[in-house]
Amino acid sequence: MQSVFILMGPPGVGKGTQGDLLSRKTDLPKLATGDLFREEAGKDTPLGKKVQGIMQSGSLVPDDVVVELVRERINSSSYEGGCILDGFPRTIRQAELLEGLLEEEDKKVDHVISLTADDEELVKRLSGRRICRGCNSLFNIYFNPPAKEGRCDLCGGTLIQREDDSETTIRQRLDVYKKQTRPLIEFYGHKGLLSEVDGMGPVDRVQDRILADLGMKG
Ligand code: AMP
Repeated sequence: MQSVFILMGPPGVGKGTQGDLLSRKTDLPKLATGDLFREEAGKDTPLGKKVQGIMQSGSLVPDDVVVELVRERINSSSYEGGCILDGFPRTIRQAELLEGLLEEEDKKVDHVISLTADDEELVKRLSGRRICRGCNSLFNIYFNPPAKEGRCDLCGGTLIQREDDSETTIRQRLDVYKKQTRPLIEFYGHKGLLSEVDGMGPVDRVQDRILADLGMKG
């Protein structure tokens, strides 16, 4: 069965974490545009530099660039059986272009989960977030601190902060979400594809809510 699920919501709501768990549960690969752009931003190319600047400012990468990058992946054999989209689409234009991409492959969006959380909680989650440079494990200095400050519990690697997790960029990202991405709630709501799921509370509780919404057992 081909299934395409979309996880949407403001920055810091837990799309990445929940997407990984859902991916394990469903055996569908996760496609996270933020990860693609972080990879791209690390390259010494004109596109890499452009993307780095955009991400640092908290703005969105232009729709055409995003969709081209997604097109390359979504048409590859790894995503033949469907996928979980994390952080894409983020604008109405991207959602429209996605429909075209999926049609080419005889696929469609099955369901959209919109995760919600309070702004204050989001700012704390993002500003407290630390990532292991070695194994990418996630910590949070407020909610899930490492045993030893600045060190990964799993591999002992150095914990770093994402450049776009600074206070000013966080506010900008939240603002961009409200103006450019939140209209998608109505877009997918009209199509009868959307559920809003409470993203507050422990990770496993949120996952249970998502699975219940999708009619899957925890
Ligand atoms: P994320 O890891 O999903 O928070 O994404 C980090 C950054 O990558 C965002 O703040 C944007 O600058 C960029 N980005 C990720 N996904 C998209 C998208 N679908 N459209 C435009 N920009 C994106």
